[in-house]
Amino acid sequence: MTAGASDAERARQVLETARAMNAAGINQGTSGNVSVRDAAGTGFLITPSGVPYDDLAPADMVRVAIADGASAGPLKPSSEWRMHRDIYAARPEAGAVVHTHSIHCTALACRREGIPAFHYMVAVAGGPDIRCADYETFGTQALSDHMLAALDGRKACLLANHGMICFEVTARKALALAVEVETLARQFCAARQLGEPVLLSEAEMAEVLELFKAYGEQPARR
Ligand code: 13P
Ligand code: ZN
Repeated sequence: MTAGASDAERARQVLETARAMNAAGINQGTSGNVSVRDAAGTGFLITPSGVPYDDLAPADMVRVAIADGASAGPLKPSSEWRMHRDIYAARPEAGAVVHTHSIHCTALACRREGIPAFHYMVAVAGGPDIRCADYETFGTQALSDHMLAALDGRKACLLANHGMICFEVTARKALALAVEVETLARQFCAARQLGEPVLLSEAEMAEVLELFKAYGEQPARR
């Protein structure tokens, strides 16, 4: 999200991203949810709970206050507003959150496994592995607490017997990260079918993490 964008523009971005994650095949139906931090920085705009994205307009996105979780109707916010709220409160760099039930992330999470350093791209989530948060019922504060612990030093984690969640500076970047983490989960599942993959060492991953600090930086283009 470009700094200075209005809340109306941010709401449009939330809905567009929710539709895009389903179109990209990393989520299905009303599973998953998306939010973007608001212009004031004191709240966020999130998809309403349980309504198909095609039935919604940008004005239907629900504003939730970070401080006390208060929201003003008419629609109820996503049942997972606590996970979104806790990310915005704990991680000032977070501008958008994407939660999906993507197939391969969920398959690993049903085994309560994260994604180890089987491929250098695992560093895209900020560390040498992508953890799986302990199980709790959807929508609960306990689930959010487990999620925050699994996100320590990371921008993405799996959620046991549930799915994945990630955040980024912008909605576009958060969606791209969600696609990347699902791709990694899929590659890991495929590699495993051939036998146990060889994992990269701590030193090898540290080198990649260092390179990633400047990866994608290009001189300004016209
Ligand atoms: P909501 O429709 O309430 O956002 O719930 C979807 C979901 O993924 C719950 O974990
Ligand atoms: Zn979910």
